[in-house]
Amino acid sequence: MIFGRAARVIDVWLCLTRAMREAWRAFPGDLMALLVMRACDIREPSRRVQAGGVSALLVEDPRAAHYLDHQWIPVHAQTLGRYIFARAELSPEIVDHELEHVRQWQRLGPLFLPAYVASSGWALLRRRHPYRANRFEVAARAREGGVSPRETVLRPVG
Ligand SMILES: [Zn+2]
Repeated sequence: MIFGRAARVIDVWLCLTRAMREAWRAFPGDLMALLVMRACDIREPSRRVQAGGVSALLVEDPRAAHYLDHQWIPVHAQTLGRYIFARAELSPEIVDHELEHVRQWQRLGPLFLPAYVASSGWALLRRRHPYRANRFEVAARAREGGVSPRETVLRPVG
């Protein structure tokens, strides 16, 4: 009986620590995404996709250009936490690519952006392209055309 109670306490503890860890990892990217949505006057994502154990919210909206057009290199889409930003509806291949970035955000949390920048810096030091040779981009390109995501339309893209 004491072991049963101890097991339940451990289960609850593990569940809480897992939830806190996931919230901590999602927090920086999701917070940035919500700020970008607010700055672009976008109220809600257009659809939710799930594939390979991750889910993401797609923000496919022409108003996202206000953010995407002001990057240090031109970008077609960008992932912040669990949110994927684009000016228009994304192809399944690009969604696969961006879902890998969602996984990277989930793995590294607040360390993702510094690690991403460091990888570009490392590529530059080796006289390689800072975007194409970035290890996070290489991993994302390897996922393109993978498992088809299941999707839920939240609102029409317009
Ligand atoms: Zn990418």
